[in-house]
Amino acid sequence: MMNPVRHLYIHVPFCQRRCAYCDFNTYANLEHRIAAYVEALCQELDSYARQLGRAPAAPPEGTAAAPLTRAALRPTIFLGGGTPTMLSLAQIERVLQAADAIVPLAEAEVTTEANPGTVIDEAYLRGLRSLGINRISFGVQTFHDPTLRVLGRIHTAAEAIATYRQALRAGFTRINLDFIFGLPGQTLAQWTQTLDRLIDLAPEHVSLYSLILEPGTPLHRQVTSGSVRVPDDDTTAAMYELALERLAAAGYAQYEISNWARAAATSGDQELPAGACHHNVAYWLNADYLGCGAGAHGHRYPQRWHNVLGVEDYIAAVRQGRLPIAETSALSEDDLFEETMLMGLRLNVGVSYAHFRERCGHDLRAIYGATIDELVELGLLTADAVGVRLTPRGRMLGNEVFARFLRERTTSEAIRPSLRT
Ligand code: SF4
Repeated sequence: MMNPVRHLYIHVPFCQRRCAYCDFNTYANLEHRIAAYVEALCQELDSYARQLGRAPAAPPEGTAAAPLTRAALRPTIFLGGGTPTMLSLAQIERVLQAADAIVPLAEAEVTTEANPGTVIDEAYLRGLRSLGINRISFGVQTFHDPTLRVLGRIHTAAEAIATYRQALRAGFTRINLDFIFGLPGQTLAQWTQTLDRLIDLAPEHVSLYSLILEPGTPLHRQVTSGSVRVPDDDTTAAMYELALERLAAAGYAQYEISNWARAAATSGDQELPAGACHHNVAYWLNADYLGCGAGAHGHRYPQRWHNVLGVEDYIAAVRQGRLPIAETSALSEDDLFEETMLMGLRLNVGVSYAHFRERCGHDLRAIYGATIDELVELGLLTADAVGVRLTPRGRMLGNEVFARFLRERTTSEAIRPSLRT
């Protein structure tokens, strides 16, 4: 039997309607296949449970202190999509029962993503809580209704707010709201209004993403044809900076480039805020995780793999009694070093020496000492007794800093031209 994994992602690839910007592996008008898909998902989970066994329980209280390593994280289960809340409570119960044989539900941070347009009543939300889901993440995107329509969202701002309040009444305390900035036609004034309403609602956790125009999406076509305009890079950068200021002033701690949680009074620079999403932090700590469902990715060093994309292909593969894996790639030790740095530096706490040693089996300075010294000299990185982290300037030039940690690219020329601009 292989070692258990502590982090499990479960993909639910159904949506009522495809949003104009979305390139996730998700499908509209396949509601009639949900029941068969859930059967296949449970079968895939069962086969991993037989191979891997069950993860150990959460680490004892108190291990979340600095320096941050994988051991500080709770086990996690994350239902993502797509729209997991298109499943009935009975279907979610079946999936979670199967998941519990891999990651212990009672010990875990159990998150579901939800579209405010599909979560129709408080009873459903209460049902989710009673099934052991203790964190919910709503895709809100903006509080500007005309923009929601351009995006093809199936809810209004008022419906998103009503659903958030229902979730609070249903007993959820761990609630994330997702927003996007740099949206079609969005002005700084509109973004300010969205931030104001968001801060009024005071969710425990906030994720803010810059719009990415993914080739092949309707929105990409609309923007390239000129029928829709998006803000320029300077305006989008100003939106991000405004969010940094407003959320900090409202008592949120940023712990990753796109993520904030309400700060506990005791949080220090070296700690995650209490409301941080442990599942996502597991990704940023380059932890091993299992992905189940159509198109889901898994990562267990020294391998990474992804499942077949299509719902029918996925169901057919599982019914044939095999794991529905489409492709597996081997990871080298250099991949491990690079990914540990590239993912870890996204976190405000950065990469601790303890984490790098625990994850990679080497001393961080022995692998990247010269790179670290150079980046510190350039004012892009700080290094102290705990580890290394980006400076505010390093955050603005994140991609250039990340490039320096790629083992194939060791000349300093890659970064210097952009620093002069
Ligand atoms: S609801 Fe989410 S997953 Fe579904 S199409 Fe819209 S953005 Fe994509």
